[in-house]
Amino acid sequence: MDMSELIERTKQNIWQAISDYGKHTDQTSVMDDCTANFVNQLASDSCYAKQELRELFSKSPVWDANLDALVINGTRTHDPDPDRIYSLGTDILSEAIYRTDNRNLIYEAIRFFYDPNYEEQGIAAIKQLAPKAYAPNKKKSRVFKALCQALGVADETAGSDFQRLYAQFADELTSKKIGFKLYVSINPAHFITMSNPKGDHRGTTLTSCHSFNSTEYEYNNGCTGYARDKVSFIAFTVADPADKETLNNRKTTRQVFAYKPGNGLLLQSRMYNTSGGVYGASEDSKLYRDLIQREISMLENVPNLWKTYPTVGEKSFCVERGDGFGGYPDWEYENFDGKVSIRADHEEDFRSLVVGSYGLCVSCGCETSYGVYCEDCKDGRGGNYCECCEGYVDEELYSVRDRRGNWIEVCEDCRDENFAYCECCGEYWPNDCITEIDDRYYCDSCRDEYCSECYECEDYHHTDNMTEVVNARGDEVLVCEDCRDRYYEQCEGCGEYHIREEMTFVTLRDGDHAYVCEDCMDSYEICPHCDTMIERCEDGTCPECGAVIDEKEEDEAV
Ligand SMILES: [Zn+2]
Ligand SMILES: [Zn+2]
Ligand SMILES: [Zn+2]
Ligand SMILES: [Zn+2]
Ligand SMILES: [Zn+2]
Ligand SMILES: [Zn+2]
Ligand SMILES: [Zn+2]
Repeated sequence: MDMSELIERTKQNIWQAISDYGKHTDQTSVMDDCTANFVNQLASDSCYAKQELRELFSKSPVWDANLDALVINGTRTHDPDPDRIYSLGTDILSEAIYRTDNRNLIYEAIRFFYDPNYEEQGIAAIKQLAPKAYAPNKKKSRVFKALCQALGVADETAGSDFQRLYAQFADELTSKKIGFKLYVSINPAHFITMSNPKGDHRGTTLTSCHSFNSTEYEYNNGCTGYARDKVSFIAFTVADPADKETLNNRKTTRQVFAYKPGNGLLLQSRMYNTSGGVYGASEDSKLYRDLIQREISMLENVPNLWKTYPTVGEKSFCVERGDGFGGYPDWEYENFDGKVSIRADHEEDFRSLVVGSYGLCVSCGCETSYGVYCEDCKDGRGGNYCECCEGYVDEELYSVRDRRGNWIEVCEDCRDENFAYCECCGEYWPNDCITEIDDRYYCDSCRDEYCSECYECEDYHHTDNMTEVVNARGDEVLVCEDCRDRYYEQCEGCGEYHIREEMTFVTLRDGDHAYVCEDCMDSYEICPHCDTMIERCEDGTCPECGAVIDEKEEDEAV
């Protein structure tokens, strides 16, 4: 295949990657901004820059020309990891360890499961804790289960913490072989998608400051920066090798390597994986390094004899950062565990690797060292950066409040979707900071200022529409109109609202009826003739029955 055909196919690969990368996320503004200028420039630069590596790799029987990558079928042997068995074991038995007055005995029992030199003492400890748990030839996982049961920590409920941790523990006890495909690629499509997309609806995994659709950091400049140097290649595994889009949007591990054919010096940079690089990273790292070393030695037809050193320290001179490189140089940091390997045949005459180069602006295709837009293109978008979707938009932005009440600028789509209008202060707030109260929308701060919770129904209402009442405990509280009408009456005497059941229904002088609270009862009396609570008329008659109440009767009544 000649160079122009190769470049054409690479363009298609890049467009495919851009489309795959945006498939499961709403944060697509960077991909939307990618122009043919950018794609053509990247395809061409990268095809020429990686030609030496391509010539070497393409000699391999596992070279996939369409992918511009080696596809190595690997098997991973996973041996029991003593540290992990110990930590899972103590985690599962933590309750029992907490309760016992002989912790050492439990620790000795756990040690049986991870230390082959501790069989005898371990078994003795287990027998003391759970006499029936151990038997010769019984599977270790079953011995552990029986121990847990005897110690009262075995929660057999489906999906319980115990079940979950126990499954991990049992799994860790046995060695197993796992098949996988390792892609070793010089394809720029795989470089720009090196970290998975941010905002993936399927759950984000293996994202980083190199995620191509992020404009939060500038390091994703390195996606194209690595793609344009002569020596970098990217090794990765994916969620499902049968589902091609996962090569571009669902990587499960990835590492940048660098090698110059015929130079015998291999850089292996930081391992990124789905668990955030803690458990299993160095183990996988070593496995992938071995596979790649073997492949390169085989292709160069030399003995596969390498010595490996940390990239930080004595051998740091082996790797230089290329001019204009704007990616994150992981290999310069000790805790990211970068490695350089030197092959015996070039121990004395290898030359340092120059890793990374200028990246490209996705908009105009020119070189840049910061982020995915050059200064000009960024300026052309001045002020149109949406702080919600992290994208650049042509239309004007809107000022809205964030959760903490700070002003931020967002695009119209984000405002309409994620923010709501407070009819009280006239500002937009995040949807979950807005409450509907009596058919009006209030932000949290307006709600707190102008509305109150009804003591009875616990709904918010505008305070102006609420009534202060005296509740059953004698406290003054606010209630809404509905609740006021349902449970309370205004006292004829003092004008306060009280609970209806605690008030007295009286007949007034003019024949009307009213409620009176206990404190105001003094001016009323029971008519000895009709037995109603009344306000006696000035002429001494009862307004209810009309009878004359004389003093004697009055005394009797009291
Ligand atoms: Zn530009
Ligand atoms: Zn937006
Ligand atoms: Zn408001
Ligand atoms: Zn109410
Ligand atoms: Zn109400
Ligand atoms: Zn009263
Ligand atoms: Zn009467």
